[in-house]
Amino acid sequence: MEYHKKTVSDVDVKGKKVLLRCDLNVSLDKAGNIVDDKRIRESLPTIEYLLENGAAVIVCSHLGKPKGQVKPELSLKPVAERMSELMGRDIIFTKDVTGPDAKAKAAALKPGEVMLLENLRFDKGEEADDPAFAKALADMAELFVSDAFGTVHRAHASTVGVPKYLPAVSGFLIQKELTNMGNALEHPKRPLVALLGGSKVSDKIGMIHNMLEKADKVLVGGGMAFTFLKAKGLNVGASLLEEEKIDFARELMEQAPKEDVRFLLPVDVAVSEKFEDSGERKLVDVNAIPDGWMGLDIGDRTIELYKEELKGAGTIIWNGPMGVFEMASFAKGTNEMAKTLAESGAITVVGGGESATAIDLLGLADKMTHISTGGGASLQFFEGRELPGIACLLDKQE
Ligand code: AMP
Repeated sequence: MEYHKKTVSDVDVKGKKVLLRCDLNVSLDKAGNIVDDKRIRESLPTIEYLLENGAAVIVCSHLGKPKGQVKPELSLKPVAERMSELMGRDIIFTKDVTGPDAKAKAAALKPGEVMLLENLRFDKGEEADDPAFAKALADMAELFVSDAFGTVHRAHASTVGVPKYLPAVSGFLIQKELTNMGNALEHPKRPLVALLGGSKVSDKIGMIHNMLEKADKVLVGGGMAFTFLKAKGLNVGASLLEEEKIDFARELMEQAPKEDVRFLLPVDVAVSEKFEDSGERKLVDVNAIPDGWMGLDIGDRTIELYKEELKGAGTIIWNGPMGVFEMASFAKGTNEMAKTLAESGAITVVGGGESATAIDLLGLADKMTHISTGGGASLQFFEGRELPGIACLLDKQE
C-alpha cells in the first residue's frame, strides 16, 4: 500500500531545526532502571536520518503518567543517557520542557546535534492540548516530525497541537507501522484470519466489528470468549463475563454468516477455582464448566482447532492473549498461538500490548512480519477509526 502521508525523506531538512516527537515511554523498574529499551531503539532510524541530513534535532516524548506535575522519578534523563550510549554521541538534555533552559539550548543547537526535552507530561498543557504549550514547543523549531506511533490515537499538544504551527511530516517508524498494518487490513493476502483475545469484549467491540467486514475468519479466545459463550446459552461458571454485552455478542455472532465470515469460539477451556497459578487446573468442554470455576485459557482441543484454522492463512492479525498468560499454568494457549504464527509462513501482524509481550517472552519477535509499538493506537487503527495524530500530518501531494 502506498503510504499517503509525507515523511522526513519527502522534505528538505538541511540546516533546519526539527522538533521530533518520539515514543520514549520505556518501562522502568522500581529503582528507575530501563527494563526494555526497544522504544528508544525503534526511534533511532529517524533521528540518525535527520542528523545525517544536516538537521538540528530536538527530540521530545512523554514518560509514564506524571499528570502535569514534575515527578523526578519520571524524568527522561535516564533515557537521554541510554540514547547517548546507543548512538555513541552526546545528547543534550534540558532541565525543563519549554522553559528558559529548553529555549536557550534549542536556540544554540547546531545542525548535526541532538537534544532531548524533559518529559512533556510534566506540563499540564501536553495532555490538555493547550495551544500556548503547543506553540511554545513549535517556536523552538522550523519543522515537526511525528514518529511516536504509540501516542497517535491521543489528541495531545505534541501530537495534534504542534502541526497547527509548523509543517508536520511523519518519521520512519510511523511510516512502517501504517504501511504494515494498512496492507494487512486493506490489501491482505487472503485468507485473512483475525485471532482476537484479551480480557474484555467492551474493549474490542470496534475491532471485532471491523474484522467481520474485513477478515475471512475470526478466532476468539481469552476472557472475552465467555461473553460469547454465555450468549450461546452456555454456563460459564465464574469466568470473566460482561453481562451488558451479551446481546451485543449475540448480534455479532448473527452478523458473521451474513458477512461470510467463519466465526469460531473455544470448544474447551482450562479452568481453575482460583485466579491463581497454584490452583487446580482442569480441562473441560465449554458446555461443562463447573459452577464456581473460571476459564483462564483455551483448552487443548481448541488449540488444535485454531492451529488447523490458521493453516493456509495468507495474513494473520493477532490482538490479545488467549488466556491469562502471565500465569504459567494458563499460558499454553497464548504460547501455542504465538508459535503457530511464527511458523505459519503467513504475513503476521501483531497489535502491541499483551500479545506482543507474550511473543517477546518466547523470543519469537523476529519471526513476525510486524509487531506494533502502540497497543491503543494499533487497536484504534484496526477498528478502522481515524488516528488524530496521523490525520494532521501533511499528505504526500501537499
Ligand atoms: P487486553 O489488554 O484486553 O488485550 O487483555 C489482556 C489481559 O487479558 C491479559 O493480562 C490476560 O491476563 C487477560 N486475560 C486473558 N484471558 C483471560 C481470561 N480467560 N480471564 C481473565 N483474564 C484474561
